[in-house]
Order: sequence, then structure tokens, then C-alpha cells
Amino acid sequence: MASSVIIQTQTFLTAGMVLLWSWVSGGQGSAEPLHLRLPLECTLGADCFVQNYVDNGSGSDYRDYHCGAMTYQGHDGTDFRIPSIKVQKQGVPVMATADGKVKAVRDGVPDALLTSATKADVAGEECGNGVIIDHKDGWQTQYCHMAQGSITVKPGNRVARGSIIGRVGLSGATEFPHVHLTVRHNGEVVDPFAPSLAPGSCSEKQGPTLFDDKDLIFEYRDRIVLNFGFVDGPVSGDEIEQGELKSRVPDHDSDAIVAYVRVMGLKKGDAQTFAIIGPDGEPIVKRVFEPLAGPKAQNSIYIGLKKPKEGWKLGIYSAIYSISEGNLPKANKWFFLQF
Ligand SMILES: [Zn+2]
Repeated sequence: MASSVIIQTQTFLTAGMVLLWSWVSGGQGSAEPLHLRLPLECTLGADCFVQNYVDNGSGSDYRDYHCGAMTYQGHDGTDFRIPSIKVQKQGVPVMATADGKVKAVRDGVPDALLTSATKADVAGEECGNGVIIDHKDGWQTQYCHMAQGSITVKPGNRVARGSIIGRVGLSGATEFPHVHLTVRHNGEVVDPFAPSLAPGSCSEKQGPTLFDDKDLIFEYRDRIVLNFGFVDGPVSGDEIEQGELKSRVPDHDSDAIVAYVRVMGLKKGDAQTFAIIGPDGEPIVKRVFEPLAGPKAQNSIYIGLKKPKEGWKLGIYSAIYSISEGNLPKANKWFFLQF
């Protein structure tokens, strides 16, 4: 079996998009806090996900408010991502998070994922197509990376909380489909997930957020399995991002069965295990990965095997992906394929 095993890991590096960042210095103390809704019509953790929080590290040390690594150095906002470019192409509206008045708009920046070759093209326009909205009491929100030609508001327009201001795009410095939301108070960046946290500090205890905190949906989440499925051969992180893998689901004639996952927010020390179980209940391929030496913002893994000479057995194949820290299980995902 060993020779027919296909395995590969891919690591996603968060690059580009270094924005000017500074922490609020007592600015929000006496003012009324801003109450925000999500900039997307979605359920966090189900059909949208925070990929990067505000960097609340000190110096060259980056970390999110929860003491995790779901951020990168200098990141001054929150990245609300959608599962794939396929979903983005269907048109995902971006909404004003609170009542306010549009201060500035930029449109006309093309939609294209950032690569090292295109970094220079977006210099000075890292936010891409964006909107800045002024709210009461010195609060301001900024929305980035919207689709070219999608922005529906103009400077001076009054917008109501929840009104559509554009669509999620791929403009500016972005490597995945998302809306970047920066919240400022009197010009200083505020982390909407931890508005009262002291500069440069972090806490695993979730405090109040600026969001309407119903049902703990704004709980910090890491180790998120973002995409998963079966395909008929090797798969790249880019193909997973495109979200068009449904046409590659293997059948009885396929030369290979491959299971893939893409996961966000892995932590240092996380051990990943990935296996495909055959119709008779035995693993037909399994891989145990070494505990991670450091955190990973995003990681794609696939595991699979080529068709045996006698062909595929009929029945149900299942894949099990799991993450553990020491001996403690932290997350897992089962998924199935039937011939
Ligand atoms: Zn961002």
C-alpha cells in the first residue's frame, strides 16, 4: 500500500496587506460604545469565519486578543472570510455594521487574488474597493476588498445599519475572499472583539465585544475546518479556494480516492491525524503528522490512494481528520463517500 499513497501538505502564508496600525489610547473611555452587526449576512462558524483578528501583539510579536495566532503583524482589522471564490462569485453583500454617513469610497480596483508578482500593483490601494463610514461619537468603520463596480453608496449618503454597501470581492491586497473591517474611535484602531483590552495584552477569557452578542456566536474560534471533501486525485490549496471541486468527486471508475481538508488557526503543538476508512471499516490510508512547531494560519492537507488492481470495493468510504493537543482531542471532522 505504501507506494500508492498520495500525500501532501500545503501551508498558507498570510502575506501582503500591511496596514498602518495603532492602538486606541483611552479614546473610548467615556463615549457611548458602538453596537455593530456583522458586515455579512451569515452565521460565524457556519458559513463565514474570522480568518484574521486585529494584531494586539507588541513590537514584532503578533497575536490576536485571545493570545492566539489568528492575525499577522500590523493587521488593523478583522477579516470575515467566506468559504470559497465560488461563493464569492455568487454575490455576497457587504452591509453597514451600524447607522452612519459615508465618508469615503473607492471603486475601480480590479478583482484579482494577490500573488508575489502582483504585490506592486496594489501598492497604496491595499484596501482595494472600500467604503469608510462615520458613526456617532467619533466612531468609524472601514470595509475593504469589495468587488469592482459593486459599491452602491457615495460620500455623504446616510446608511442604515444592515443596508447593503457593496459585495465581497478580491480587490486590493487579499489572498482569499473576505471583507476586512477596521473599526476606529477618534482615529485609533479598536478591536471589535476586545474593545476594552489594554494595548499589547491578550486574554483567553472572552470579554464584551462591540457586536450584539447573542448566543455566543462571537466566541473566539480557532482550529476551524473550513473546507473538506473527496476528490479523484491530488488537489492544490488554490483549487480548494476556488471551491469548484464538486465535479471531481470520485466514482467507482476513478483512478484515485483522495480526501482533503483545509483548516484555519492551528496552534503550536497541534497534532493532526488524517485517515480514510474503507467499506469494511479498516483504515486504507492513514497519516499521523508531527506536532506543529509553530502556529499555522491556514493549512491544506490531502491523503489518498490509487485504485487497487482488483478495483474499488463498493460501499461507504469515510474520512476522519482530527486535531489533538497532547492527548486532548480538540477538533475533528468526518465525511463520507459512497459508491
Ligand atoms: Zn484584513
